[in-house]
Amino acid sequence: MDRQSWDVVVVGAGGAGLRAAIEARAQGLRCAVICKSLFGKAHTVMAEGGIAASMGNVNAGDNWQVHFRDTMRGGKFLNNWRMAELHAKEAPDRVWELETWGAVFDRTPDGRISQRNFGGHEYPRLAHVGDRTGLELIRTLQQRIVALQQEDRARYGDYEARLKVFQECTVTRVLKDPAGRVAGVFGYERESGRFFVVEAPAVVLATGGIGKSFKVTSNSWEYTGDGHALALLAGARLVGMEFVQFHPTGMVWPPSVKGILVTESVRGDGGVLRNSDGRRFMFDYVPDVFKEKYAESEEEADGWYEDPDHHRRPPELLPRDEVARAINAEVKAGRGTPHGGVFLDVSTRMPAEAIRRKLPSMHHQFKELADVDITAEPMEVGPTCHYVMGGVEVDPDTAAAVGVPGLFAAGEVAGGMHGSNRLGGNSLSDLLVFGRRAGLHAARYAAAYATGAVPEPSAADVELAAAEALRPFGAEGGDAAVSRGPAENPYALHQELQQVMSDLVGIIRRAGEMEEALHRLSGLRSRARRAGVEGHRQFNPGWHLALDLRNMLLVGECVARAALEREESRGGHTRDDHPAMDRRWRRVNLVCRLAEESAGPAVADSALGLVRLERQETPPIRPDLLALFEKDELAKYLTDEELL
Ligand code: FAD
Repeated sequence: MDRQSWDVVVVGAGGAGLRAAIEARAQGLRCAVICKSLFGKAHTVMAEGGIAASMGNVNAGDNWQVHFRDTMRGGKFLNNWRMAELHAKEAPDRVWELETWGAVFDRTPDGRISQRNFGGHEYPRLAHVGDRTGLELIRTLQQRIVALQQEDRARYGDYEARLKVFQECTVTRVLKDPAGRVAGVFGYERESGRFFVVEAPAVVLATGGIGKSFKVTSNSWEYTGDGHALALLAGARLVGMEFVQFHPTGMVWPPSVKGILVTESVRGDGGVLRNSDGRRFMFDYVPDVFKEKYAESEEEADGWYEDPDHHRRPPELLPRDEVARAINAEVKAGRGTPHGGVFLDVSTRMPAEAIRRKLPSMHHQFKELADVDITAEPMEVGPTCHYVMGGVEVDPDTAAAVGVPGLFAAGEVAGGMHGSNRLGGNSLSDLLVFGRRAGLHAARYAAAYATGAVPEPSAADVELAAAEALRPFGAEGGDAAVSRGPAENPYALHQELQQVMSDLVGIIRRAGEMEEALHRLSGLRSRARRAGVEGHRQFNPGWHLALDLRNMLLVGECVARAALEREESRGGHTRDDHPAMDRRWRRVNLVCRLAEESAGPAVADSALGLVRLERQETPPIRPDLLALFEKDELAKYLTDEELL
C-alpha cells in the first residue's frame, strides 16, 4: 500500500478543489489533490452559462447588496445568510483574479468583462465565455497550478514538491486518529486497483454533487455523492438534503441523451418556452411572491431585453424551481411535446448568426445529438436533476465541517449557501469564494501541526477500510445474516436506486411515496452488501460502481428522510400534499448525521436505517442585512416574531 504524507489533502479537482489547492500552496503548505477522473475532467468543465458576480459592467446599478438579495430570494430565505453575504461580497474579486491568471472572458463593446442575464438575477451578472465558461475556468486554474509547480521546480528542483495531483484515484474513507481528529484519506487507484493512504492533518472535500442517484440527470458518472457520504461517515452533518435542483431544461430526446443540460443562457438571451398549443405558458405560473417583478404580457417581457429599466422581466427567467414545476405541470396536463417535454424556441427570437455566436455549444449539441438545427426549429426540453443544495454543514467563514476537526468542505458538496434553491451562475462563484476560504483555513489549521505531533490514522481503521473496499470480490453469500443470498449485480442495483429516487423522491413528492422509497432503499442497502464483481482489481468499473453504491444509498436516504420530514413546498422541494410554503418552516434546518450504532467501516451499510434526522433552528438574519429588503417582502418569508 502506497503511503505518503502531506500538509493538506484536497479531494476533488473541480473549481472548488483547485481553488482550495492554489490557496493552500500559496500559504506555503504542501498540498496533494486527489481526483477520481482525469485532471481537468471535473463537473466544473461542463458549466456553460457563466459566473455570477456583481461587477456592474453592463448595468451600473448592480452591487453586492443586490446580489445578496437575489440569492436569498432564490433560496427562499433558507440560505445560510453569512455564506450568501460573503459570496456576494467576494465574487467580483474572484472573477478579476481569474483574469489576472489568464482567463479570457467575453467583452462588452467598451472592453470590460461582459455579463449576461440569468434567472433570478436582477441585473446582467454572469461573466461568461460563450456557453463554455466552465472550460475557461478550469483551464485557468490548471494553468495557475502549473505555474506554481514551475516555481517549485525552480526553487526545490521538483515540480511536485509542494503541489501534486493524483488523478484517477478514488477516496473511499476519511481517516481519523483516536482523538477524533482528521488524519488523512484512504483510497484506490482506478487503473491498478492499488490502495493508498495519504496522511494529512487537514482534508478539504470538494467532490461535487449527487446527480447519479437519479435517473434523468445533467451530471456525469463522477457525481455519486462521495464527499457527502465521506463526510457523514467521518462524523460530519449534512444540512438541507431535501433540496435537490431539477433544472427546467434538459434534452428529452433521443433517449440516449435524455437529461443533458440545455443552458439557461438560451432563455437569458431571449429564448421562450411554449406548450404544444403554441402558448407562452410561463405567464400562467408566476407565484405571488414574485408577481411584482415579472412581466404580465409578452409585449412587456420582450421590451425588457432592450430596455430593462422600464420593463419587468420575462417569466421564463423565474428561478429554476418555478420553471421546472411549470413545465412538469404543462406536460402532465397533456400540453407537452411528442417526446414529453415543452418547446424552447430561440430560432424565432434571434438571427441565426447571433445564435451560432452566443450559443455555439447548444447549436453543436442539438445538431450532433438530436439532428435539430436550433437556428431554424425549437428544442424539446424537460426537467433534469442538476444540482444538490444540501451538503456538509460548514462554518461559513472558514469552510470547516462542523464537528470534525481538520475536515473542510467547499463547492457543491457543502451545504447552506443556496438555501432551498440555487440561482444559475451562483455555483461557479461559490466554488471560487469558498474554495479559496477552505484552502486558506485548511492551511492555517495544518500549519498549527508544523512543529508538533501530527494526527496519525489508526492501523485498525486502515485495515477496515481495505476490507470494506475488497468485499465486492467475495460477495457471494454476504457476511451478515440479514443479507445472505446470491451476489447482486452492481449495475442492476444502481438502476433500481435511480428509479426509486426519480419515481418516489423526484420533482413532485408525496408522503406515502417517500415512505415507500425509504423501505425500498433499505432493501437495496441490504442487497448492496452482496454487490459482487468478477475479475481482478485492475481497471474494473463494476467494482468501482459497487463501492460507489454505498455513497448513493446513504445520500438517497438523507434526501428521502429530509423530504418526508419537511411538510411544505420550498425551492427544490415540492410536496403535492403540502403545496404551500410555510413561514414557520423557514426557522427549521433539517440536519442528517450517521446513526451512532452504524459508524465505522464494518457496519457502514447494514440493513438498518443509517441516518438520523434532527431539526435545527436557523440563526436569525443580521438586522443590517434584513434592512436591505422591503418590509412587505420580508413578511412573505419571515415569521411574525422575526419581523418584530
Ligand atoms: P466538480 O467540478 O464536479 O469536481 C468534483 C471533483 O471531485 C472531480 O475532480 C471528481 O473527480 C472528484 N471526486 C468526486 N468523488 C471523488 C472521490 N471519491 N475521490 C476522489 N475524487 C473525487 N454552475 C454555474 O454557476 N454556472 C453554470 O453555467 C453552470 N453550468 C452547468 C452546466 C452543467 C452541464 C452542469 C452539470 C453543471 C453546471 N453548473 C453551473 C453547476 C456547476 O458546474 C457545479 O455545481 C460545479 O462545477 C461543482 O464544482 P465542484 O468543484 O464542487 O465539483
